[in-house]
Amino acid sequence: MKAKHWYDYLWVYAIIYFALGFFNILFAWLGMIDFLLPLLLAIFGGNKFFCNHLCGRGQLFSKLGTDLKCSRCKPTPRWMSSKWFRYAFLLFFLTMFGNMVFQTYLVAAGATSLRQAIKLFWTFRVPWGWTYTAGTVADWMAQFSFGFYSLMLTSLLLGLIVMVLYMPRTWCAFCPMGTMTQGICKLKNKE
Ligand code: SF4
Repeated sequence: MKAKHWYDYLWVYAIIYFALGFFNILFAWLGMIDFLLPLLLAIFGGNKFFCNHLCGRGQLFSKLGTDLKCSRCKPTPRWMSSKWFRYAFLLFFLTMFGNMVFQTYLVAAGATSLRQAIKLFWTFRVPWGWTYTAGTVADWMAQFSFGFYSLMLTSLLLGLIVMVLYMPRTWCAFCPMGTMTQGICKLKNKE
């Protein structure tokens, strides 16, 4: 049997991260680790160590889908892993990320006020005010938390939906972080 490493349990961290967002939205900032670390490892290491070993979300899909049999384990539709879909989804995702940063800027500049809500699937606004006490930090920091947690939770839910419908880690076929790190690694290896 393969020896277990500390990083084999990062799926627990993924659960804790999302749970913390139900109590205090400022913990959403921790998600920046999942955003920056894969990019840094790809840029400086030229590898997908993050995807292969450090991604708690991917591990969570494996746990739920394979170990707990929450997945139908049907083949992932080919279009989901096609180049055009992966890059189109990445573009969409980055646009939404950019919009979230812009909303944060507007709050920082005093052009709009803090909205204590999250937006699921970029559409459905859900009140989330109990997770934040006004004035704890600068409004823009809180706004970023609400926006970033919205992105993280939306991508988790999308991942869970495709996990149930198809293979446990179908999300990885078009995950924006996976697409970006793969692109970076390809460029690095060409060098
Ligand atoms: S593709 Fe995305 S979800 Fe899958 S292991 Fe990589 S970063 Fe995690």
